[in-house]
Amino acid sequence: MKVLKFGGTSVGSIENIKRVTEIVTDGTKKIVVLSAMSGTTNVLVEIAELIKNKDISKALNTIEILHKKYTLVLEELIYKVSLKQETLNYIDAVFDFLKTCTSKKYSELVYNKIVSQGELLSTYIFTNYLLQEGINARLLPALDFMRIDKANDPDNFYIQQNLQRIINETLPADIYITQGFICLNAFGEIANLQRGGSDYTATIIGAVVKAEAIEIWTDIDGMHNNDPRFVENTHAISNLSFDEAAELAYFGAKILHPQTVMPAREANIPVRLKNTMNPASYGTLISSKYKGEGIKAIAAKDGITAIKIKSARMLLAHGFLKKVFEIFEKYETAIDMITTSEIAVSVTIDNDKNLISIIEELEKFSTVAIDSQQSIICLVGHSVVKHHETHRLFQVLQNIYVRMISYGGSNNNISLLVNTSDKITALKSLNSYIFDFEIV
Ligand code: ASP
Ligand code: MG
Repeated sequence: MKVLKFGGTSVGSIENIKRVTEIVTDGTKKIVVLSAMSGTTNVLVEIAELIKNKDISKALNTIEILHKKYTLVLEELIYKVSLKQETLNYIDAVFDFLKTCTSKKYSELVYNKIVSQGELLSTYIFTNYLLQEGINARLLPALDFMRIDKANDPDNFYIQQNLQRIINETLPADIYITQGFICLNAFGEIANLQRGGSDYTATIIGAVVKAEAIEIWTDIDGMHNNDPRFVENTHAISNLSFDEAAELAYFGAKILHPQTVMPAREANIPVRLKNTMNPASYGTLISSKYKGEGIKAIAAKDGITAIKIKSARMLLAHGFLKKVFEIFEKYETAIDMITTSEIAVSVTIDNDKNLISIIEELEKFSTVAIDSQQSIICLVGHSVVKHHETHRLFQVLQNIYVRMISYGGSNNNISLLVNTSDKITALKSLNSYIFDFEIV
């Protein structure tokens, strides 16, 4: 069994839905995970925000516009009368539900229910399209098996048991379709795997069914060696190890949801990133194999806050870091980078929800300084730390203020913290550096 995930653009137009159909009908049995059609989740988030802000007439108007869009898609895609009526009823029911949400009291659960509708729509429409085309497809509702625990980690045992049960109970099919992104939480309520989470759905499913391969289909030829939004002439990297891909996804490579690699790495299942618009291209293969040395790719992550904690008493006296970390632990805030000196320690976080409380507690025993609007630039490759050219990094970056450097934490990664306003310049300067000696 293979698991294939298709992103929003891949199911975002009639033309692309037809491309996806060609890709999935190659005669092998598979589970297909779909995102919402491109743009839909953003609009659903907007609707939820409008309801939260009690701008009900605008919310209803936005719902109406989205409803029309789906009706048009259906008109063009499905012509078989019975399937058409059934799909139309489904679409209408979804939009009726959204309308009822405008009179509900806003809560996180209401938000989660609203944003889950995009994947419910795309999978329902796509399954009926495949059935119309005579393809033996079945819908497996993700909410019947996909579940996270109290720590927001996938509940693999539950997922495996229920997915297996549903497959056994459903009529045999060549293609099983399911929703990415959405799941139940530990209390059985509708939740999700965070924005972009359909990739993660695919690897979670891949791992529990012990898939022979997982493919993530997007609209780009694989993971690029630098951010194509800011730097020209980037190109796809053919091979990455799980570790390298995990670092890039976590530190900003937009093509993959940050946690995607974890389940695949644990189950040792290769993940291939492919382009729906160009299926012939090799894409990127993520596996346990390391190929080449030196820096292969750069990614950047914005929205970082640096916290400098300075102690009147000797900082590195034992127990100090423990005290610091316990505060972050208490507020469930992950630390990404850390650098220390004898009198101060700097850490970075990407979630400043509890920053005020964290500062208050740190100030009981230290002086705290905050730098916001920072970006982490992450350089990834095999043995980057030992590579003989690594010293040149400092020459390349001589005109940029680097606030923190993390070097040697792992062999695969060097991370730099810069002001977000310097990020594009840094990415461009670093591009010449990686191009000079990268091995793909
Ligand atoms: N539709 C969701 C989003 O836009 C999940 C995904 O596409 O992966 O974030
Ligand atoms: Mg995505």
